[in-house]
Amino acid sequence: MILILGGTGEARQLAEALNSREVRVVSSLAGRVARPRLPVGEVRVGGFGGPEGLARYLRENRIEAVVDATHPFAERIGANAAKAAELTETPLLRLARPGWQPGPGDVWHWADDLADAARKLPGLGRRVFLTSGRQGLPAFAHLDDLWFLIRCVDPPEPPLPRHHELILARGPYEVAAERELLRRADVLVTKDSGGPQTSAKLTAARELGRPVLLIKRPARPGTATAETVPEAVEWVLRR
Ligand code: NAP
Repeated sequence: MILILGGTGEARQLAEALNSREVRVVSSLAGRVARPRLPVGEVRVGGFGGPEGLARYLRENRIEAVVDATHPFAERIGANAAKAAELTETPLLRLARPGWQPGPGDVWHWADDLADAARKLPGLGRRVFLTSGRQGLPAFAHLDDLWFLIRCVDPPEPPLPRHHELILARGPYEVAAERELLRRADVLVTKDSGGPQTSAKLTAARELGRPVLLIKRPARPGTATAETVPEAVEWVLRR
């Protein structure tokens, strides 16, 4: 049995690819999103209880290998997976799409984390298209002089910035629609999630000449890494 730590499109694609090759897979979701897109095959939902809880799960379910296909900004689960894999001597692969790269015409600024983004933002614009995710919104809540167009999947909890409009939506997004949203703002804030599902906003920003403030990815433990689903399939099949 292979455990996929999921919550991403790549995790669903991997579950499907392995399932079609008759590899037994269980996909794990944190349970953050109210109505998640479910992968094919077996699914479990909810935290494991830290690295020790995950190690116990690996032993009890006779997991032969783990693929950590969680989102690049899911910081904790990556460290937990590395620790649990070490404790149980289970092979671990990290599946992570590469970050985005600027092209000609892009005006990109980088922030080290959410707090750094909130510090840099007032110097870049007054009207902000904020797509950094529901859990990151408190970092911007004190910026009373700015207006935010906030987009996230599920309704956020307070604290939120005082002046804002909320859009609930889930990707993938089209360039034309992103352009219309971005016309209402003078700066875009996003995590460097990478991948094609949510990159249309970057194209729209380039077309409109809007600056983009990108939040850098947090560091992950140094494990074997695949950038694509076919690479991860090959790694699993080799085992
Ligand atoms: P996180 O900070 O790394 O994890 C917090 C805790 O949530 C972990 O310690 C673990 O609890 C549990 N957890 C996380 N991913 C899990 C999984 N796949 N299966 C079971 N438990 C999991 O993660 P996060 O940033 O809150 O993200 C949660 C999930 O949403 C991830 O699976 C990620 O792929 C997905 N996601 C995150 C983002 C983002 O920007 N952060 C964006 C899109 C999707 P225990 O310690 O109790 O095991």
